[in-house]
Amino acid sequence: MRRRLLKFAAATSLVLCVAMASLWVRSRFAADSLQYTTSIKANRQRLFWATSSSGTCALGVNTTRWPVDFPAGSSGWNVYLKRPPREVRVLEFARQQGREFLGFGAASRRNLLVSHVQGARADEFLIVFPHSIIVVAFAIAPALCAIVGHRRRRRAKRGLCPTCGYDLRATPDCCPECGALAPARPTAAA
Ligand SMILES: [Zn+2]
Repeated sequence: MRRRLLKFAAATSLVLCVAMASLWVRSRFAADSLQYTTSIKANRQRLFWATSSSGTCALGVNTTRWPVDFPAGSSGWNVYLKRPPREVRVLEFARQQGREFLGFGAASRRNLLVSHVQGARADEFLIVFPHSIIVVAFAIAPALCAIVGHRRRRRAKRGLCPTCGYDLRATPDCCPECGALAPARPTAAA
């Protein structure tokens, strides 16, 4: 049961790894964003966003202070796909502020002018990180699972306990060392 759960977790991790790798390749050609905007409360509105562009992922939050008489704007989810990558320059902001290292960074900007509404200002905070680090992180569990599976199969083939490697030729049904029940062995084992 535990092994099955671990296998499921490793398979999920592998799917996420492949998805992130695809997004990484895609980010060279297209910038994608996911945004969530809250409703305006006490003239303040928050925008949470995630962007993938040019080999960089960015997560950010913008807090906008609207003029007093600004009517309630729209809130909810927005998706922007396939924008030109050059339009999204979040990593540059972090670089300009000297807070970028090996593709990791953070940036904050205050009192940004929100151009289309007079008197509206926004504060922005964002972090950036490379797609590659997420791809590597999601690859660890599937790689370990593959290595362990390979070792177990090799041990079983040689008549050893798949769990601890103890020689099971004298006691093929149950390991006297760790108590593991031996799986049905292939009769063609060399
Ligand atoms: Zn054993």
